[in-house]
Order: sequence, then structure tokens, then C-alpha cells
Amino acid sequence: MARPVRFNVHPIGADVKDNITYAAAPEGFAGDGFFTTSLSSVVGLARKNSLWPMPFATSCCGIEFMATMASHYDLARFGAERLGFSPRQCDLLMVMGTIAKKMGPIVKQVYLQMAEPRWVMAVGACASSGGIFDTYSVLQGIDQVVPVDVYVPGCPPRPEAILDGFMRIQDLVGQESVRRRNSDEYKGLLNSYGIQ
Ligand code: SF4
Repeated sequence: MARPVRFNVHPIGADVKDNITYAAAPEGFAGDGFFTTSLSSVVGLARKNSLWPMPFATSCCGIEFMATMASHYDLARFGAERLGFSPRQCDLLMVMGTIAKKMGPIVKQVYLQMAEPRWVMAVGACASSGGIFDTYSVLQGIDQVVPVDVYVPGCPPRPEAILDGFMRIQDLVGQESVRRRNSDEYKGLLNSYGIQ
């Protein structure tokens, strides 16, 4: 017996045949029964489509993130439906909201508890630059305490902007060499934040 439709009075049948797109294959050489590419490309492809975000939401931008996770915008389409609330199980720190200077060490502690490779996204004007709060008590951008990979502008950014920022993170993740985290350049970046 069909289940009653309670919440969608005009259900549309899902066109799964034509509406599903597959992740693009990395560059490489293909022939009869074989495909070769670089290890970094394969690892990047897997990583970029299976990011586990760690939401660090302190104020209004966090509400936009809730909309981004909900069914209309649906961050899960990008392989990131598994939010983690333990930094040890996440690889993308999303800082959303005003960060008071008192919170700065907490943001850094959360970052340190994440295993490499890890990426950071500053969502909204407050996380990126302090926003409208040019005051003694507000951190003027989280890049004063942790390295940031992508900044999302807006006060607040719309969910489309958060999705766009997420896709920019995916581009970085997909193109990153598996050797980057062991490079002197990366170690120098962490050292500049007092991280060994
Ligand atoms: S950027 Fe604007 S919307 Fe986002 S936390 Fe700051 S004040 Fe709120």
C-alpha cells in the first residue's frame, strides 16, 4: 500500500536517470582495459568528494549554514553530508560567525585537534575580517590564529555563497599534491602560526 504523502502535495517523480552526474575522472591515459593517472589525482578526487566539515558556528552566519545543510540547498550533494562535532574526525573547519578575542585560542585548539590534511573556510565578514565589529573585543579575522584556505564574503553570505566557497575548497583539495603537507613551505606556514 502506498504511503500517504503528507508534506509534499505536488510530488515530482525523481528523474534519476538524467539528473545524476558523476565526478569527472582525473586526467590520465586510457586504453582498452586500462587507465593510468597520478596518485595525487586519485587521492584528490576521493578527498574532494568526501569532505567531513566541522561547523564552528557562533552567530548569525551559522543560521545560513543550517539552511545550506537543509534539503533545499543540500550540502550533501557535494559528498559532505557527514558533519562532525569532534574535530578529530573532520577535515574541513568552517568558522561561521563573530569570533571574540577570547574565542581565538579555542578556534586554534579545535584546528590543532584536527588531523592532517585539514582545510579551513572563513564564512562571512566576521570570520574573515571582524566584519562590522571593529571593536576591542572582536578578532579581526580568524587568519590571525589559524591559516585560512577560502574566505566567503557577505554579512551574512547566502547559502549559494557558502556552496560556492565549498566548491572552491573542493578545487583546492582536488589539486593538492599528496606531498604538500610534508613540504618546507607548509611547515613554514604552520610555524608562522606557532604550530610545530
Ligand atoms: S558576518 Fe554578519 S551575519 Fe555573519 S556573523 Fe557577522 S554580523 Fe552575523
